[in-house]
Amino acid sequence: MITVAHDALENLVTEMIGRAGSTPEEARQVAHNLVEANLLGHDSHGVGLVAQYMRHAKTGTLTVNGHVSLVSDNGAYLLLDGNMAYGQVTGGEAMQLGLDRARTAGVAIVGLRNTHHLGRIGAWGEICAQAGFISIHFVNVIGHKPIVAPHGGAEARYSTNPYCTAIPATDKNPMFVLDMATSRVAFGKARVAYNAGKEMIEGALIDHHGLPTRNAAVMFEEPRGALTSFGQHKGYGLALLGEILGAALLGGPVTDPVHEGKDTICNNMLTVIIDPKGFGADIPFASSIDAMLGYVTSARPGEGVDKVQVPGEPERETGAARRANGVPVDPGTWALLVEAGVEAGMDRHDFDGIAV
Ligand code: NAD
Repeated sequence: MITVAHDALENLVTEMIGRAGSTPEEARQVAHNLVEANLLGHDSHGVGLVAQYMRHAKTGTLTVNGHVSLVSDNGAYLLLDGNMAYGQVTGGEAMQLGLDRARTAGVAIVGLRNTHHLGRIGAWGEICAQAGFISIHFVNVIGHKPIVAPHGGAEARYSTNPYCTAIPATDKNPMFVLDMATSRVAFGKARVAYNAGKEMIEGALIDHHGLPTRNAAVMFEEPRGALTSFGQHKGYGLALLGEILGAALLGGPVTDPVHEGKDTICNNMLTVIIDPKGFGADIPFASSIDAMLGYVTSARPGEGVDKVQVPGEPERETGAARRANGVPVDPGTWALLVEAGVEAGMDRHDFDGIAV
């Protein structure tokens, strides 16, 4: 494993994204978001995506230096088109417009369609929670071959359609962030395992016969297998809501054979932003959360478990450790990063110099 200080990694990725055509500001936004994902332990949504982003920028399936444009504005509803610009840019713009609307209307329902990869959806929930609002996100992912099998199916039909809800911090608890792929694991986790030559956990993959396997190669080599949904039929149902609410409701593209052939990552996202004081009644929301979480996490830990945690807690803990000790990058991912940098005219020493 190679270890890199997070700020040095962010500077390196800023340089790479800049060389793919972005302004310094955009390059910094993209790099910060990706390195933040690594810091929080989601290597699947970190710097391992840089080479792919640069390829998409080069082939024009990603619009560099693009922004959201307004499709419709109707009361609490805002519909935005992401114009296939960096999701790291459009996601932030959509949240700021949504928060402005929620501050006046008490609630905002924001559709963001046709954007390039939004990365870690929790990043968008955290912006809302930091501003004191609850947010709920339904998302679909298209623009490449489907990679997740529907429950009961033996081949892929859709993608890892994430779901997220973020709740502002209380006096006793930091913000609550449930942020997850609806597949058993995020696709990037298969990429990380494949690059590292490691086996995947049980139950996360099927091979081309529809049989369970732990070999991540089924996601990258023919004959292809698929990821499975989390919680069997339940994760499958939630993934379909990503298609219905996250895309169809917004007039965004849903999974179909037409979008399979493209080499890009397109996200569509419905965000519902709620003011916790929106009911206008005297409701002890924060103290109710504190009491409930206190009770739930007081459960005796099971064998091999240190403590019962709440969503968002593993990320905070990993974040603190990686900020202090550096971000681990597996050699396969690092080699892809170096290759993409050198191809863009960077010096190999730029990479060697920061890797420990
Ligand atoms: P994960 O399985 O690591 O975590 C999912 C959630 O469970 C998190 O909220 C986490 O805090 C919580 N959690 C984990 N362990 C816990 C524990 N012991 N107790 C309580 N809560 C716990 O995440 P994932 O499903 O692999 O997703 C990784 C990332 O991938 C997410 O940020 C997601 O948004 C992102 N993603 C993005 C896309 C996209 O198209 N943009 C697609 C899929 C996934």
